[in-house]
Amino acid sequence: MENILYDVAIVGGGIAGFEAALTLKTLRRNFVWLGANRFGGKITLAENVSNFPSFSGTGKELEALLSRQAESEKLPFTPARIDGIYAGGGEFLLTEGKKVFRARAAILATGVETAGSLKGEREFLGRGVSYCAVCDGALYRGKTIAAVLFSKEFEKEAEYLAGFAEKVYAFCRYAGAAFSTKNIEIVPQNPTYLKGNGRVEAIGTEKGELAVDGVFFLKNSAPPSALCGGLETEPDGHVRVGRDLSTNLKGLFAAGDVTGRPYQYAKAAGEGLVAAFSANEYLSKIETKENGRVR
Ligand SMILES: Cc1cc2nc3c(=O)[nH]c(=O)nc-3n(C[C@H](O)[C@H](O)[C@H](O)COP(=O)(O)OP(=O)(O)OC[C@H]3O[C@@H](n4cnc5c(N)ncnc54)[C@H](O)[C@@H]3O)c2cc1C
Repeated sequence: MENILYDVAIVGGGIAGFEAALTLKTLRRNFVWLGANRFGGKITLAENVSNFPSFSGTGKELEALLSRQAESEKLPFTPARIDGIYAGGGEFLLTEGKKVFRARAAILATGVETAGSLKGEREFLGRGVSYCAVCDGALYRGKTIAAVLFSKEFEKEAEYLAGFAEKVYAFCRYAGAAFSTKNIEIVPQNPTYLKGNGRVEAIGTEKGELAVDGVFFLKNSAPPSALCGGLETEPDGHVRVGRDLSTNLKGLFAAGDVTGRPYQYAKAAGEGLVAAFSANEYLSKIETKENGRVR
């Protein structure tokens, strides 16, 4: 476990997380900015961005400008794919496998998975559906499981699962999948639904069903409720927030696509800023109460 207790931990390397980090730097807060990658994926995918103030160009050009600003501002970024956020005792523990980050407040800026979820994925969360190979892999010792991989970077995690499971059906949503482990079978069809009676029992494809004991979705964005137990979400899965972007968990704020539509850079950046101010205010109130210290 890291010994540092940060004021704020930001989870998400997109534009919402970036703006939160910039704002916390201005507010002179001690923060850690965590993310699977910095400005990865979405920003570079946009063919033409014409609705962001002072900018018109491709997503790649926007990413280059943001990266330049992050570097000139010396914003520290820590690559980490957070698999759990735990609240208790006035602080948050954020885990990446066995690695733990500690903070007194946290901002969830994890975006949304554009690929969409599978029928039954949410229903069986914690009852056969998992997003974390390291956390849950050992539960499937000697069993048959499916792994839905969203990019090549997750092949190592599927191989880790294959170390426990007797058989792993791999659904790879990218070209050029390859595994060195014999008990992984690449399924060339798309998964279409999950089925079961109380727990996952089968995964459906357009060519029929495969009996499985569990299904791992290996992707960068897990649903927020899977990341953080007790976090309230809207019926559509977005994090429920107030105007100050606070969630139902004290000290936890959310910003960007993760809080709902419209999915837009300007909205995500604006919310990153508001969440950072709200986290600062939350901490200031605690500090005033505890130490008589006013920021
Ligand atoms: C093809 C395309 C074109 C678009 N064009 C436009 C446009 O022209 N104009 C516009 O305004 N918007 C556009 N958008 C929408 C815009 O990209 C999003 O609204 C914006 O990126 C949201 O920012 P965010 O920071 O909330 O989330 P994201 O950009 O999704 O960033 C979230 C980050 O958090 C990371 N993450 C998730 N979970 C974890 C975890 N557990 N641990 C660590 N990191 C994690 C993700 O990997 C990701 O890097 C477009 C989107 C797409 C896909």
